[in-house]
Amino acid sequence: MPCNHNNQLCPGPTLNGALTNTCTHCLADFLDSQRSEIKAMLDNHKTAWQMMSSWTKKLVAFIERLYEDQFTTHGCPSDFSFCITGSGARSEACPQSDLDAFIVVPKITQNQKKQWKNINLAVKKRLDDINDSRVKTLRPGKGFVFCTGGLNPLGMVTKKWMERNNRDGLIKKDGIIFDLTNTTSALSGLLEEYYRYPSDPKRNLRKHIVSGLQECAHAFGNPKLHRELVDEVKFVLGQQAIEFGSNTLLSRKRKQGLQAMQVAINDKNFQPPAPYSDIKRVKREFYRAPQFILKGLAWFYDVDEVSSLAQLSMLEEMGKLHPSRVVHFRKAMSEALRVRVASHIITGAEFDKVLSAYVTPNKNQSAWLRLNSEQSAMLEDAANSVRLIIGWANEFASVQGRTHGIRGNPFSEPLLIK
Ligand SMILES: [Zn+2]
Repeated sequence: MPCNHNNQLCPGPTLNGALTNTCTHCLADFLDSQRSEIKAMLDNHKTAWQMMSSWTKKLVAFIERLYEDQFTTHGCPSDFSFCITGSGARSEACPQSDLDAFIVVPKITQNQKKQWKNINLAVKKRLDDINDSRVKTLRPGKGFVFCTGGLNPLGMVTKKWMERNNRDGLIKKDGIIFDLTNTTSALSGLLEEYYRYPSDPKRNLRKHIVSGLQECAHAFGNPKLHRELVDEVKFVLGQQAIEFGSNTLLSRKRKQGLQAMQVAINDKNFQPPAPYSDIKRVKREFYRAPQFILKGLAWFYDVDEVSSLAQLSMLEEMGKLHPSRVVHFRKAMSEALRVRVASHIITGAEFDKVLSAYVTPNKNQSAWLRLNSEQSAMLEDAANSVRLIIGWANEFASVQGRTHGIRGNPFSEPLLIK
């Protein structure tokens, strides 16, 4: 019996058994059914973090099935750990987030390398096809696919990305920046080179990959290989670094922590929106700055947790973040992230912009998510919290860069009630 899409051999949108004959549309149907489960959580007033961690698990399970399917047909080339980075590693992926990932393998032969490449290409193609069959018009070409900027097991970028970033001709013809199905030493070597040669022309290409290596989680395969990489990355980051301000005692990791905060403080994109602005960018204007600042604090105080929530509770437990400030971190992120999940589901794209409650959408905005008045009020409140948090980070960074005096931690002080 053919499936709903009239493909004779396709067993339909169930992922039991081999996927060899499962058609693109049925795979897309399956993913949509997973998204519906997140939609149900949204309707049941689950928190953003509950929805995001649930989605992260679903997407990992899906990718694992796609790989298993390749292994059944072609065999598994070698031992491996499939690692996810970015929002996946933080368990903060949203239903249309793209997937940042790489694979750690032991030392393998050229032939095994070739096998991995073919398998990665096949999975990439399947994801692309599924995405093409679904993504609507808001942001075509982006959705649940491998990272288009090279942080994927192939280390491959899209044509569009190449046109924008390949001014010096550093990227080879096939669009591969660095092979990211690789050994611990090759992967941590990328990190080492990034820090050792500040004027390396390839530095810009490495940047996204480097941040991924520093924030990764084991998804499936052999966790031992991931563990080895994490240890190696820690070793590289633990080395003494160049000065920050006049404070020379900072390790690379601490310096990186402060730099993450500087981004949150200085990058125009990551500032909260002006009060009562018509359009809100829920990821950029609400989530990013608190997330970077938390990550910065976590690195500074050597906290290994990667999810924002886990970092929050660990920093609070260690006395590095006062409970009166923790409240603002939650406020800054929670409703914005719930709205972000909703926007992904409603628009069917990785779409970040939403309309405030009192705005009448124009023709181009008709597909956008429009906030209700309660949500609008909550986001105004959240924007205030983002502003406060950025101010504290500014204080923290200037105190830590000091020559003399005590380098205290303003985040650990109770908030004064005005
Ligand atoms: Zn089908």
